[in-house]
Amino acid sequence: MDFVKLEKKLLEDGQGITFDEALELTEIPKEKLLELTSLARKVTVKYKGDGVFLRSIISAKTGDCSEDCSFCSQSVHFSSPISKHSLLDPEEVLQAAIQSEKLGAFDFCIVIAVKGPNKSQFKKVIESIDLIKENTKLEIGCSLGSLTRDQAFALAEAGVWRYNHNLEACREYFHKVCTTHTYDDRLETAKLVKESGMELCCGGIMGLGESPVQRLQLAYEIKELDPHTVPMNFLNPRPGTPLGHLKPLPSLEAIKTIAIFRLIMPDKVLMSGGGREVTLRDLQSMGIMAGSNGMIIGNYLTTVGRPPEDDIKMIEDLQMPIRDRYK
Ligand code: SF4
Repeated sequence: MDFVKLEKKLLEDGQGITFDEALELTEIPKEKLLELTSLARKVTVKYKGDGVFLRSIISAKTGDCSEDCSFCSQSVHFSSPISKHSLLDPEEVLQAAIQSEKLGAFDFCIVIAVKGPNKSQFKKVIESIDLIKENTKLEIGCSLGSLTRDQAFALAEAGVWRYNHNLEACREYFHKVCTTHTYDDRLETAKLVKESGMELCCGGIMGLGESPVQRLQLAYEIKELDPHTVPMNFLNPRPGTPLGHLKPLPSLEAIKTIAIFRLIMPDKVLMSGGGREVTLRDLQSMGIMAGSNGMIIGNYLTTVGRPPEDDIKMIEDLQMPIRDRYK
């Protein structure tokens, strides 16, 4: 791989690398990894500026989900040991939002474990959104599963600026990950989100047993949707799930994947999400240098993240600003 040529092309033209170039990069030896991450860092700074965006999420309803996503401990189909709870009251969601704002997040995402929200769940979420808007300056995101057209437009109307709906895996591999809904179901909601005027947050999970080529396919399928933010989650194998026996992706492979995703999508916010602690371990700061410019801080949906103070210290040590508004 000729990195000088690639750098010239990428810094002159924000279109990103081709599939063949990305494929070649998946095969570079580890001795070349620093060249790749250095290029990814230059591309990040050129197209997204310096610094890291912080987001926090709340699992406003945990467990008992009707779907059978094979990585997920919240599915009713598996016997994973998690602490379930029904949909939180708006006041409880507000308290979590206030706490997140104090920790430095400017973006708060309400997540519920459902195929799609029913009428009463949707009403409660809208009440939570209204309360958060009245009492904080947080940007509000939601991740409520599949939406109807009316629900998508109602969320946009309520002031939700970003909706998360991940593809999870590429089209070719999706049927191995979930059988209770289809890849096309996911695409439909992702497209509705854009139509409604909300920003789309759409990414996937690395390490579900997919091949490196399928991981690239996922990146290009996400790119095609032109999302604002791309969560890069890493499988944290949960006991009791069909993927509980897998090992997390090796750290260096995860770093390489982040850098390649950055070169494929120069102008997106790449958000490191669930599983980053168990996958990147001591290399978390390298993930940021490799092109990840967003982080979920605090706890994830069913697993505990490291203390937010540690993430903030890491960003300070990297001498990067914490970004307070998406630009
Ligand atoms: S990933 Fe979402 S839709 Fe799938 S089982 Fe888990 S909570 Fe349900």
